Amino acid sequence: MNNENYHFKIGAFGCIALSDGVMTYAPPTFPPPAVFLFCNAPGDRIEKVLRGHNINIHQWIQWTSSYTCLLVNTGKCRVLVDTGAGRLSSSTGKLLDNLKNEGITPDDIDLVILSHAHPDHIGGNISKGKPVFTNARWVIWEDEWQFWTTEQAESRLDEHSKEILINIARTNLLPLQSKIELVHEEVELVPGIRVIKSPGHTPGLLAISVVSGKDRLLYISDVVIHPIHIAEPEWFAATDVIPDQVIATRHKLLNQATLEKSLVMAFHFPFPGLGYILQKDKGWQWQPIEEKVK
Ligand SMILES: [Zn+2]
Repeated sequence: MNNENYHFKIGAFGCIALSDGVMTYAPPTFPPPAVFLFCNAPGDRIEKVLRGHNINIHQWIQWTSSYTCLLVNTGKCRVLVDTGAGRLSSSTGKLLDNLKNEGITPDDIDLVILSHAHPDHIGGNISKGKPVFTNARWVIWEDEWQFWTTEQAESRLDEHSKEILINIARTNLLPLQSKIELVHEEVELVPGIRVIKSPGHTPGLLAISVVSGKDRLLYISDVVIHPIHIAEPEWFAATDVIPDQVIATRHKLLNQATLEKSLVMAFHFPFPGLGYILQKDKGWQWQPIEEKVK
């Protein structure tokens, strides 16, 4: 399918937004989308805000999210950001096929950056107990590794989801133990690609800055999950582990993206998840890339 890979350039770097598939969030497994995505939204405002995005709150019974990973070819190095959900559901796990469609095998990946350790971002790490990207250097923020591999996650997550989240995290992280690099500074991993500490959604979430020539891309992962989080950055989602931090991180990154006029990529936004952050009144607004091209 042609719409599963989206090619774009950042300066001299060739980039591809790679679909891992989609996932539908619906009751009874998940709360209704308006509650799942905007837990603390005031009751008197949410209906109006959703209507402004052509959503009728009473008819919004399920939310289908794209899962989109990023590949950057710097010319010297092929960098994969996040590995998708693997076999989490029958509608995900398409990353390897979509890489293959580009003529890229798992052995060709030089660096894998894990933005965080939720199931939809690390589910493609391991197959039959072994790392899928055999030649790659792997990177995650130190706090994120500590959170999922120690008792921290047990005490911080709610009863409803913690067992499955912790299980998936450990299954997909621990086999990497001897080769994964735990970073604790905002370092440049390869020329032009830098990690940015962005805690809140999870304690050690990383955003990734890609710079080549005059072009910039900011991969913000799950700092925002739905475009409405850009217009309403104080509304957090049920999956945000530390809400106060996610709100502060959103303000920081949305400001940065606006000032730098960066292209932005968000993992859960409609494919390819690319767009710009526009200043609007005292806040921000999402402009998907397709609208800019028109
Ligand atoms: Zn996610």
